Amino acid sequence: MTDYLTSSQHIALTERRAAHNYHPLPVVLAHGEGAWVTDVEGRRYLDCLAGYSALNFGHRHPRLVARAQQQLGRLTLTSRAFYNDQLGLFAEALGALVGKETILPMNSGAEAVETALKVARKWGTDVKGVAADRGRVVVMEGNFHGRTTTIVSFSTDDLARRGFGPFTTGFDLVPYGDAAAVEDAVTEETVAVLLEPVQGEGGVVIPPPGFIRQVRELCDRRGILLIADEVQSGLARTGPTLAVEHEGVVPDVVVLGKALGGGILPVSAVAADSDVLGVITPGTHGSTFGGNPLASAIGHEVCLLLETGEFQQRSAELGCRLANGLRGLGGDVVRDVRSRGLWAGVDLDPSVITGRQLCERLLEHHVLAKDTHGSTIRLAPPLVCSDDDIDMLVDAIGTVLANVG
Ligand code: PLP
Repeated sequence: MTDYLTSSQHIALTERRAAHNYHPLPVVLAHGEGAWVTDVEGRRYLDCLAGYSALNFGHRHPRLVARAQQQLGRLTLTSRAFYNDQLGLFAEALGALVGKETILPMNSGAEAVETALKVARKWGTDVKGVAADRGRVVVMEGNFHGRTTTIVSFSTDDLARRGFGPFTTGFDLVPYGDAAAVEDAVTEETVAVLLEPVQGEGGVVIPPPGFIRQVRELCDRRGILLIADEVQSGLARTGPTLAVEHEGVVPDVVVLGKALGGGILPVSAVAADSDVLGVITPGTHGSTFGGNPLASAIGHEVCLLLETGEFQQRSAELGCRLANGLRGLGGDVVRDVRSRGLWAGVDLDPSVITGRQLCERLLEHHVLAKDTHGSTIRLAPPLVCSDDDIDMLVDAIGTVLANVG
């Protein structure tokens, strides 16, 4: 029925009828396959945002679609009031993939972070012996963990917070990457440190080498939990299955989302051993959709895809190619390039071109990318893209930058 609408008509309709909580690029997508998407007028684009890494396996990965279709023909939703024949398989596979005994399934990334915070507070009271409702969590400046009221309570992004209080208390902010500051912030009431191994929304910010290891050592010494938010960095985006593996660190709690849903459904989870997740008992926490059979089947298939290590290896190889290409981009416009696996942040001189302007010009070169914080663009193509796709991306950025200023 809507096939006859043009891009501009879709944009006008969306702007009129949907809340303006995003400022999308002016492109209307209608189809996707692998690393490529097509707009309603038939123009093709390389998707270098990949649904903020929810599309690590590309659009409509055949195995994920087949598994989803198979499950759609059997059973989609039960609620957790009953068992279903998919959740146990999913939980076992995900636990094995990330080295944890148990998982707690949720839906969005923010819900999983909220769950991890609740688990940490309850663990603090029930196991560590912190007085009830006193547990504190050390968090990082520049963080992004989602949009709920509790989570934006400790955001340092003014736009994310302004007007949304009153906020949840019990969080201590420290500079990202400063292990001494984490140590100083820890008190007898601290129950956990929450960090992103790479700050994705922050602009692909990588902490100094050794930081996560130092925090791990500190958490062991002070008897507190290390929670790694791997919602964006996890599931092979940075090369290994989890980004903490770059430092050989094993967190107590791993938070996963985005790619866990295979680009099909929101699927998230908190993974931890049972001495931690065991504090959650019937009635203390839940979700109508968390662990539903359709989501579990897709999550299970994602785990099976990652089991062989091929995506992890491909992420590392393609990431090297992208990083080398980006570092070769000359001129003074590029101020910094940070990368880990197939994930890069490029800082620009905004007096020459802003991140938004670069992304708009990249559209003309058939590339979709996303800016952040005004002068940075983030690149996270699907892990299924080809060497040629990466070269095309680098060429497109090079061409745009060569023609500015
Ligand atoms: N945690 C991290 C590290 C994220 O990058 C995001 C989203 O970008 C979230 C949590 C929130 O995930 P969701 O948007 O699915 O709630």
